[in-house]
Amino acid sequence: MPPAPPPPPDADTVLREVFGFDAFRAHQREIVDHVVAGGDALVLMPTGGGKSLCYQIPALVRRGPGIVVSPLIALMQDQVAALRQYGVRAAFLNSTLDAAGARAVETALLGGDLDLLYVAPERLLMERTLELLGRSTPALFAIDEAHCVSQWGHDFRPEYIRLSVLHERFPQVPRIALTATADEATRGEIVERLALRRARVFVSGFDRPNIRYRIAESGGGSREALLRFIREEHPGEAGIVYCLTRRRVEEVAAWLQAKGLTALPYHAGLDAATRAGHQRRFLREDGIIVVATIAFGMGIDKPDVRVVAHLNLPRSLEAYYQETGRAGRDGLPADAWMLYGLQDVITLRRLQETSEADEAHKRVERQKLEAMLGFCELSTCRREALLRYFGDTPGGPCGNCDTCLDPPRSWDATTAARKALSCVYRTGQRFGVGHLVDVLLGADTERVRRWGHDRLSTYGIGTELDAAGWRDLLRQLIARGLLAVDAERHGALRLTDASRPLLRGESTLALRERRRRPARASAARAPADARADFGREADRRLWEALRRRRHELAQSQGVPAYVIFHDATLREMVVRRPGNREELAGVSGVGQRKLAAYGDAFLEIIAAHPAPAAGGGGGGERAGAPT
Ligand code: ADP
Ligand code: ZN
Repeated sequence: MPPAPPPPPDADTVLREVFGFDAFRAHQREIVDHVVAGGDALVLMPTGGGKSLCYQIPALVRRGPGIVVSPLIALMQDQVAALRQYGVRAAFLNSTLDAAGARAVETALLGGDLDLLYVAPERLLMERTLELLGRSTPALFAIDEAHCVSQWGHDFRPEYIRLSVLHERFPQVPRIALTATADEATRGEIVERLALRRARVFVSGFDRPNIRYRIAESGGGSREALLRFIREEHPGEAGIVYCLTRRRVEEVAAWLQAKGLTALPYHAGLDAATRAGHQRRFLREDGIIVVATIAFGMGIDKPDVRVVAHLNLPRSLEAYYQETGRAGRDGLPADAWMLYGLQDVITLRRLQETSEADEAHKRVERQKLEAMLGFCELSTCRREALLRYFGDTPGGPCGNCDTCLDPPRSWDATTAARKALSCVYRTGQRFGVGHLVDVLLGADTERVRRWGHDRLSTYGIGTELDAAGWRDLLRQLIARGLLAVDAERHGALRLTDASRPLLRGESTLALRERRRRPARASAARAPADARADFGREADRRLWEALRRRRHELAQSQGVPAYVIFHDATLREMVVRRPGNREELAGVSGVGQRKLAAYGDAFLEIIAAHPAPAAGGGGGGERAGAPT
């Protein structure tokens, strides 16, 4: 009689021995147990929450290969490389493989030599692939980025709708759909389109506690502010900078380059090879800044992005949350930093007014922009507002956003606002911000004279504010719906019904004081810098040495550095200074295979950097802020 096959490992053993983690995170255990037992699941979890383990572990525990459907072809290679580092037998099947490569994967699949197979949806839907899967008895299907079934969303993929075929062809195979972005409507669409009515739904909160939200108004000079911020708080670290237009992307990237940063542009106007090259460098090299339109970033799997900066206003809180969510997937401190200005508000309002969309669509877009603007102008905790918007119930102010760390002051803007509104009225509600400010300040321009505006009662009455102050005020009036942007008239401002009580003296108005740049780190309780814990010189040196070793190992294999070990793992090595293999195995992220492959290489470096004697910390290196 042949020996019985060994019993499959249980989930805890896989978590510990393969991935090197001590404990499941909130929800992970429930989800894993449910799928291991053969149930269907819909998992809504924020970016960085740990969705991958929810299907990777059941795939390793159940018999047969786990099949992962993902639209992110560009990332599959790195995802597979990361799994192989853990000793997981993983492969991918998509259009980047040549015929021989695809055949090899198919053979491995049929031979029972794969634990996980990543497949592009269009590939999966080919009859040939479905047949192949039929012969390999999958352990499960994981449908990643499940919100791609939504026709309303920005990431709609028509092939996703056809994925219901999995249920029809493989009714006995459990399916787990995962996404980080799902409001009620999208959730409903996923359930409906993927035939997941019987699936258990797991909703984790939306909070990303390690991300610090900071927003400020820009009155020009936003590039300079960005550069200063990166130099002061994130030198040499990876970041994404979002701009609204391609031209601006090019300009900002070139400017940052000229200032000595490695900044790469990314937008739909670049050819595919350049785009792919820039994405690849971002994923593989340390300290790259990608300057991008929103075309960049969907499913960017890089765990150590320390900054997401916006130089323009995103068009909705959904977009803001998704884009900022690309920071700090590894759970270490990260920054969401944004500058926006009056021009953004006017541009977006005009785009909306002139768009071809039907009225219902326009109304939704308008509401989304309102919510985004309201969020920017808040004087209370940003995280609370963000979470509430997505239906969470936050537990109170977060202490890790600009309004918590450095509460904005408000001022009584009633008189100034009245002056501005009556200036709009007296000039006929047909002029834009620039001219209105000129009139308020009593500027002597050709335009003022041509229209006779120097004879108006509002001419020169606004000496209490400077031009930037008036622009700030007008922006807040627009944001609050007290002024409307007239699209037909190239951004002329007009009064709204809401502005009448204020004009008539029946109501008062308090506005936020202007903040010229996002709150400084010095105002913060804890630095948002992932390296900042290393007050001691010796620790800093060990950290740098570990990173160098990681870089060498990654380069020799042609994989991204984080695939060898995450920053969080290296950081724990610095803090715990393991002296032997056993101690190293206790560091989170060091599984059996990585211990065997890299343990000695890293132990050697740790041994060469002993901890300084207690009390004798070198200190000082970080004390002097870099200039
Ligand atoms: P998501 O896909 O939800 O954005 P990932 O699956 O990429 O998130 O996980 C985010 C990070 O958290 C990864 O670095 C992963 O290794 C880590 N992680 C996930 N689960 C755990 C856990 N139980 N213990 C420690 N680290 C974890
Ligand atoms: Zn807060």
